Amino acid sequence: MRQRTLCLIKPDAVNRNLVGAVLQAIEAEGLHVCALRMIHFTKAQAEGFYAVHRERPFFDSLATYMCSGPLVACVLEGENAVARYRTLMGATNPADAAEGTLRKRFAQSLEHNSVHGSDSPESAAGEIAYLFSTCDIVSR
Ligand code: GDP
Repeated sequence: MRQRTLCLIKPDAVNRNLVGAVLQAIEAEGLHVCALRMIHFTKAQAEGFYAVHRERPFFDSLATYMCSGPLVACVLEGENAVARYRTLMGATNPADAAEGTLRKRFAQSLEHNSVHGSDSPESAAGEIAYLFSTCDIVSR
């Protein structure tokens, strides 16, 4: 099934000039970039993006980190894009991530784990709508 998913290249990775390396891995996997922009979140915008985690003990730290510098947001499109991109990212904690995954290669810690990917087609739709308007997205 052809799907869209949201990828964020988080501030730790943008700060270390890893944007090109992440996009290269995404394109090598056969996923298509169909929207791309840089964003520097305010604290309120970061809290809104991660609102699902608002009760978690790490929420404030996560929101502070996510607005600590610019990030790159991309919409990816392809067959089964949500699961394929989650597999490419690897486990949330880089210590558990498989060899060759983005988080194994690039993450600095559980929180500073370099990339975000939507966890379902439903969350992808909500996250994409939070960051992009319809006319920003092309079909690939
Ligand atoms: P994901 O879907 O793999 O990104 O994982 P989650 O939705 O569970 O968590 C969202 C993000 O919060 C993760 O990507 C990490 O950046 C961060 N995070 C998750 N668990 C923890 C934790 O226990 N402590 C801290 N400080 N950050 C966490």
